[in-house]
Amino acid sequence: MQNINKNLTLHILIAMVLGVIVGRLFSLGVSETDDTLINLFVLNLSLKEFFVEGLFNVGGSIFITSLKMLVVPLVFISLVCGVCSLNDSAKIGRLGAKSIGLYLFTTAIAITFAISIALIISPGEGMNLTPAQDYQAKQAPSFAQVVIDMFPSNPINAMAEGNMLQIIVFSLLFGVAMALSGSAGARIASLFEDLNKVVMRMVTILMGLAPYGVFCLMAKLFTYLELAEITQLAQYFVTVLLVLFVHALITYPSLMILLGKLNPLPFLIKMKDTLMFAFSTASSNATMPITLNTVTKKLGANNSVASFTIPLGATVNMDGTAIMQGVATVFIAQVYGIDLSFADYVAVLITATLASVGAAGVPGVGLILLAMVFQQVGLPVEGIALILGVDRLLDMTRTAVNVTGDAAVTCLIAKSEQQLDESAFNASDKQLELIEENNSKTV
Ligand code: ASP
Repeated sequence: MQNINKNLTLHILIAMVLGVIVGRLFSLGVSETDDTLINLFVLNLSLKEFFVEGLFNVGGSIFITSLKMLVVPLVFISLVCGVCSLNDSAKIGRLGAKSIGLYLFTTAIAITFAISIALIISPGEGMNLTPAQDYQAKQAPSFAQVVIDMFPSNPINAMAEGNMLQIIVFSLLFGVAMALSGSAGARIASLFEDLNKVVMRMVTILMGLAPYGVFCLMAKLFTYLELAEITQLAQYFVTVLLVLFVHALITYPSLMILLGKLNPLPFLIKMKDTLMFAFSTASSNATMPITLNTVTKKLGANNSVASFTIPLGATVNMDGTAIMQGVATVFIAQVYGIDLSFADYVAVLITATLASVGAAGVPGVGLILLAMVFQQVGLPVEGIALILGVDRLLDMTRTAVNVTGDAAVTCLIAKSEQQLDESAFNASDKQLELIEENNSKTV
């Protein structure tokens, strides 16, 4: 089993690059209109149907679905184990307050950076664009409703719907009750510990299949991606990317050094597989099993902290998404020639930070949240249609930043709770593999 994950990064990377190349080849073939190539064109269409709509579509969908399949059992089981091992409800309260505080803090930094850098670059200045299609805004729930909705009336229903905050609340209560139930609780706890090992093993098995899944996802995506729209919106696109990189490579490392006295280098290096999963799935929810695996197995965060902060982060913490929203607000305001005041930007900051709390980490959710932000400051919601075309690639990149934030905050909280094994955090992948191999020999 160990061999499955050897060279995984390289394999996923190769799969990604091949997927992009194959996807572009298919897309070029489809747009070919030369009469002399008509036979090739017809052939290509059927090839496209077979490969893109058939093989790649099926392979990619199965890959994402299997990742999602693990999310609910993993969150429930590992969080129950985590809470039970904490064995102290005061600690749980402290953990909750710290992580929500830090998540909101990093999101606020992200959006402040986004607005400031976008105001300097002015990506929408002098642009004359008209929306190609309508964009229908969804009605945003009130913050009070978000809080009420965190409590499940039916935990089975919450699990069936994959409602993360409700699952977290139920698992916390279940774990606390288990810890308080004496020998009955202890018996169930040992069952949960075993279940946890089995589900984590499922995660490793699935990771071994990732190169195939990633290839299928990338090939299909790049067959249909309209790269021309990116050129038209290059300034917006590049500004969002720039802020995303600044946040991932400057903000998180600085926080790790300043708040946690941790070396950010091993952190960034060990996040590489998780980032590729996040990038190719564009979903922090689907990536959650991998993020949890990375922070506990490679970065040394104890499950008692990580099992709580990672699922919470996948829902509550979306720094990358907030960055897109900050830049998009400035961009659309400039395109429509609307002057936003300082108070408007503060409103954007608050709305974007709070809006992310109740939203699940799934592809494209950032645009729905953006509609809330626009409504808040009176920007035309149909302006979102302008940036729709380039959103998928940005979604993939910002999801990678979102999961980096979840993992960074997890390490910081684990450190502050003395639940971070720093020798594992600083060890290289090779050293960790050796330790794991030795452990599995002795078991
Ligand atoms: N796809 C993002 C995530 O899953 C959310 C978004 O920005 O649309 O984290």
